Amino acid sequence: MNASGRCLCGAVTFTARDVERGLHVCHCSMCRRWTGGPSFSTHVGGVVFEGDEHIARFQSSDWAERGFCKRCGTSLFYRLVEPDQYILHMGSFDDPSFFSVESEIYVDGKPPGYEIGGEHPRLTEAEFLASLGGQGD
Ligand SMILES: [Zn+2]
Ligand SMILES: [Zn+2]
Repeated sequence: MNASGRCLCGAVTFTARDVERGLHVCHCSMCRRWTGGPSFSTHVGGVVFEGDEHIARFQSSDWAERGFCKRCGTSLFYRLVEPDQYILHMGSFDDPSFFSVESEIYVDGKPPGYEIGGEHPRLTEAEFLASLGGQGD
């Protein structure tokens, strides 16, 4: 399905297509620093942004960049550079009730003081990287 969303201040809005329902919760240290907690993100088939001039892109690794609103700081996306693949955050969608947790990753990086409930796969960093064939955050 298609879904719309925006940053906190509204300078950046987007429409994403082929939005997946399943959320991947990442506990890695980079996501925690970037979002203030674990990241809840989903794959989309593509996305069109309005207000592109307000988006800053930070290259967080050799293969990925992270985009955020220059005005309000909202964490908007994680993007794999090759192939060009956007992964968006649940929190910036207008209707987050569409989503549910499909897996947790980097569970060995999770601080001990909280848990995400429900029955779903919980992968360590090594397990997650093995599932990808080498690429991670
Ligand atoms: Zn903003
Ligand atoms: Zn992460």
